Amino acid sequence: MKIGRCAVAGEEYYCVVKDAEVHLLSSHPFESITYKGLVFKKKDIKFLPPVKPSKIVAIGLNYKAHAQEFEKSMPDEPLIFIKPSTALIGDGDGIIYPAMSKRVDYEGELAVVIGREASHINMEEAKNYIFGYTIMNDVTARDLQAKDVQYTRAKGFDTFAPVGPWIETDIDPGNLSIKTYVNNVLKQEGSTSDMHFTPYYIVSFVSRIMRLLPGDIISTGTPPGIGPMNRGDSVEVEIQGIGRLHNRIL
Ligand code: MG
Repeated sequence: MKIGRCAVAGEEYYCVVKDAEVHLLSSHPFESITYKGLVFKKKDIKFLPPVKPSKIVAIGLNYKAHAQEFEKSMPDEPLIFIKPSTALIGDGDGIIYPAMSKRVDYEGELAVVIGREASHINMEEAKNYIFGYTIMNDVTARDLQAKDVQYTRAKGFDTFAPVGPWIETDIDPGNLSIKTYVNNVLKQEGSTSDMHFTPYYIVSFVSRIMRLLPGDIISTGTPPGIGPMNRGDSVEVEIQGIGRLHNRIL
């Protein structure tokens, strides 16, 4: 099932996307799905970020070939950082190129959405706490990442966390193709089967550090092929079985 959020007549709703239709829900979808009885055409809907996370956790260097791009070895534990919830934007929203940076990169990633409060869970249980999977573009000011000791500035600008267009709840994350396009040119191509730490491992690991809440996002790292974007560019991240997240650089 594909679950998103949308705005209709100034009100925000969770919704279920079924082919060309969008069915509004009367409450959040984490415990049960209750239809409001209102249906719209998908083409008429502006999707919002699919959740309102308390935090966005992201993983650095989770694909060996991406680590090699930076001449870095793979970490023996997941390298985690946080993107502020204020960085979140949805499908179709603009990514603002910050004045502080001269190099802003795309990073197409599979993102886990948490469905139940999770603390100190083990890997075998992790699946029960995952609501579904969505797409995140882990937008990065690469020059500032190189300059700073940690990632907060480089990863934390407003609009640097495009997520969506919706969450797919029925999907196996083990072998999905990830592709990133800039101005319709394929720039990144990878498979989640090349991840070093699996989504289940990552959810368990992060839950031993911080309590995960419904709607929290954990982005699982980017495959090789990262590169820059410029003002006016169109960037799209496509993940097999989920969909395509489109944003423009402003
Ligand atoms: Mg990343």
